[in-house]
Amino acid sequence: MLIDFKLEKLSGHATSGKVGKILKKVNDKVAIGDEILNIESKKGNVSVSSNVSGIIKSIEVNTGDTVKKGDVLAKVEGEQGATANTNSPKKPSNSGAGFNYMGGLMKPKKEDIDIDITIIGAGPGGYVAAIKAAQLGAKVALIEKENIGGTCLNWGCIPTKAFVRSASVFKDLKEADSYGLSAENVSVDINNVVNRKNEIVAQLVGGIEFLIEKNNISLFRGHAELIDSNTVFVKHGNKETTIHTKDMILATGSKSSTVPIKGVDSENVITSNEILNIKSMPKSLVIIGGGVIGMEFAFIFKNLGVDVTVVEFANSILEALDDDISSEIASVAEEKGIKVYSSSKVTEILDTENKEKIVVFSKDEKKHYVTGDKVLLAVGRQPNMDGLDLQKLGIDLNDRGRGIKVNEKMQTNIPNIYAIGDVTNIIQLAHVASHQGIVAVENILGHDATMNYDVVPSAVFTDPEIGVVGLSEKEAKKQNIKISTGVFPFEANGKALTLGESRGFAKIIKDKNTNKILGASIVGPHATDLIHELALAVKNGLKDVDIIETIHAHPTTSESIHEAALASTSLGAIHFSE
Ligand SMILES: Cc1cc2nc3c(=O)[nH]c(=O)nc-3n(C[C@H](O)[C@H](O)[C@H](O)COP(=O)(O)OP(=O)(O)OC[C@H]3O[C@@H](n4cnc5c(N)ncnc54)[C@H](O)[C@@H]3O)c2cc1C
Repeated sequence: MLIDFKLEKLSGHATSGKVGKILKKVNDKVAIGDEILNIESKKGNVSVSSNVSGIIKSIEVNTGDTVKKGDVLAKVEGEQGATANTNSPKKPSNSGAGFNYMGGLMKPKKEDIDIDITIIGAGPGGYVAAIKAAQLGAKVALIEKENIGGTCLNWGCIPTKAFVRSASVFKDLKEADSYGLSAENVSVDINNVVNRKNEIVAQLVGGIEFLIEKNNISLFRGHAELIDSNTVFVKHGNKETTIHTKDMILATGSKSSTVPIKGVDSENVITSNEILNIKSMPKSLVIIGGGVIGMEFAFIFKNLGVDVTVVEFANSILEALDDDISSEIASVAEEKGIKVYSSSKVTEILDTENKEKIVVFSKDEKKHYVTGDKVLLAVGRQPNMDGLDLQKLGIDLNDRGRGIKVNEKMQTNIPNIYAIGDVTNIIQLAHVASHQGIVAVENILGHDATMNYDVVPSAVFTDPEIGVVGLSEKEAKKQNIKISTGVFPFEANGKALTLGESRGFAKIIKDKNTNKILGASIVGPHATDLIHELALAVKNGLKDVDIIETIHAHPTTSESIHEAALASTSLGAIHFSE
C-alpha cells in the first residue's frame, strides 16, 4: 500500500516553512518515529518524523522548497495499519528549537457534542457559511478533510492567479524593448514560481484559520460521515466525534472530471492540481479542453514560453460566452502561437519511444495527432459526493445524478439539510459558493433569503482578461428578448494604450425599449475588475443614461464602460467612430 506521508504540523502558528536537511533517501527503510527531514519556519524548526513504517518510494520535496500543512513530503510503501496518528504535538526534539510531533498508537478518544449548524467542507462555500453563522450567534462546527480554503484557495482561483501573474511579468520582461527598456537573460524558474504560489496560498489559508478560531468555530480536520439528518461522525487525529446537530450544510465541492479514453491514466497526463505543483517546465503542453480552466492554463504556459496546443470538443473555445468574446480570445491565442483545434474529439493518448505524449483526436472525420511533454486534462469538474452516502438519508440529486438538488433557499428535500457551492452544480464559482453559503445560513437562522443567479459576474483570466455579467447576446436570442448593444474598443482607450494592452472591447447589452442595462461582456485590460460597475447597474435596474451621466476618471480603462454606454445610444461614442 503506497501511503502519502504528509506534513501535519509546523512550529507555533506558522503556516508554511522551508524544507531543511533531508535525512532519508528513496528505498530507505523507515520505522514509525524515524526522523525524515527538518522544516524551518520563522516561528522555529520542526523535526519531522515518520508516522509510517515501510520503504520510502519517493521524496516529494527538495531542500529549500516551501511547504505547508497537508503537503505530501514522501510516499512510503507500507503495510495496512502501518501508520500512527500525527496530529498531536510531542516532546521537544533534542535540537532544542523544534519539536518532534510523532504521535503514539493510542486508542481513539470518543466524544459527543451538540451543535446548531454543522458544515461539511471548508472551501469558499463552507468557511464563509461558518463565519456568517458564527457572526449571527450560532454554535458552529466546520469539518474539513484536506485543506482549509478548499479548491479555490489551494488548487483553483488563487494558485492559478499567482501563476497568471508570474507568467505576465515574464512576458512583459521578454517584451521590455516595446516599453523602451531592456532586460536580458530573463528565464523562468518554475520551482520558484510554485514556491511563490505556495507562500500566497499559505498566507491566505492562515488568515482563514485565524478567522475560524476568532469566531469560535469548532474545526474538525477529518472526513465527515453522515449518520442521519441530525448526526455527523468525524474521526480526526486520535479522536472520534459524534456531532448532534440541528441543521447541516453540505459544502463538499467538486473534483476534476476525466474522459473514458485509452491512456488517460498514463504518466504525464495531469490535472490542474498537479500542474500547479509542477517540478520542471515542459517544453510542450497539450491541453484537452478549451473551457475557462483550459484557456487560463493555455495563456499561462504560453506566456511562460511553452509550446501550447488546445484540443476542444465544442465548436469554439470558451463556448459558453458570446461569439465575439470567444473569437477575440481565439484570435489573440492564434497570434501568440497557441494552436487551437476545435470541433475535435480526443480518442486516445499514446506514448512515443522517448516518453512524449501523443494525443489522438478526430476532426472532420480524419484522425489527427499532436504531441507534448505533458497533457493537461481540463474537461470540467464534477460534484464531490464521495463517501457522503446521500442515498441512505434520501437526499435528492439533480437530473442525471449530477449534484445535490436544492431549492432557491439552498435547502435539500430534507428540511434541515442544505447544500451549497460546487456540489450543487449550479454555477461552479467561488463567489457563488460563498453567496449560497450566506443564503443557507440566513434561512437556517430564520431570515428569508433566496438565491438569484441573474447577476453573477464571472472572471476569466486569459490574456486579455474577460469579465461578463447578466444577460449575454446568446441568451437574449434564446429567450427572444429585444436588445441593443453598445461596443467600445480598447484600442481607442488612452490608458489601455499606455499599458500596452489594447486588444478587446467593452460591450453593454440593454433592453431595446426601456434602455435598462441587462448585461455586459468585457474582454481587455482589467476586465475582471471593470465588470463590477456593470454588475451594480444590472442588479439595480440602471439605464444607459445612469452610466453616461456618471463622470469616469481619465485616464482609466473604466472610460471604456462610459463610452460603451454612449455607443449604445443613437449619438454613439465620443472617442470612437467606425
Ligand atoms: C484550476 C481552477 C481555477 C479556478 N479559478 C476560479 C476563479 O478564478 N474564480 C472562481 O470564482 N472560481 C474558480 N474556480 C472554481 C472554484 O475553485 C470553486 O467554484 C470553489 O472552490 C467551490 O467552492 P466550494 O466551497 O463549493 O468547494 P471546494 O472549494 O471544492 O471545497 C470543498 C471542500 O470540502 C472538503 N470535503 C469534501 N468532502 C468532505 C468530507 N466528507 N468531509 C470533510 N471535508 C470534505 C474538500 O476537501 C474541500 O476542501 C477554479 C477552479 C479550478 C479547479
